[in-house]
Amino acid sequence: MELKVTDFLKQDELLAGLAEEAAELSQAALKLRRVLDGRNPTPVGFRQAVCHLNEEIADVLLYLEWIHAMDNGLVREFRNKKLARWVTRLMEAKDAENDA
Ligand SMILES: [Mg+2]
Repeated sequence: MELKVTDFLKQDELLAGLAEEAAELSQAALKLRRVLDGRNPTPVGFRQAVCHLNEEIADVLLYLEWIHAMDNGLVREFRNKKLARWVTRLMEAKDAENDA
């Protein structure tokens, strides 16, 4: 019998873990942005920052596998609508820039 994370942790604890890992992902993204920008020096190198970002992405994905509230169909629907809205905004901004 294969043991599952949900045999040990309830959803409330998994949601807390997801929130913690999402915060760590946010920090890793900001650190890589800082490395790429270069205006505010950090001892963290590019490779290290990229590796850390990927580690935190893995952590978030791992938690998402066990969150019962996650509905893949609904997530896909939101994703598609938001991508369309994002592209529209980018095109509108580009058009406004060209008109100026
Ligand atoms: Mg983490």
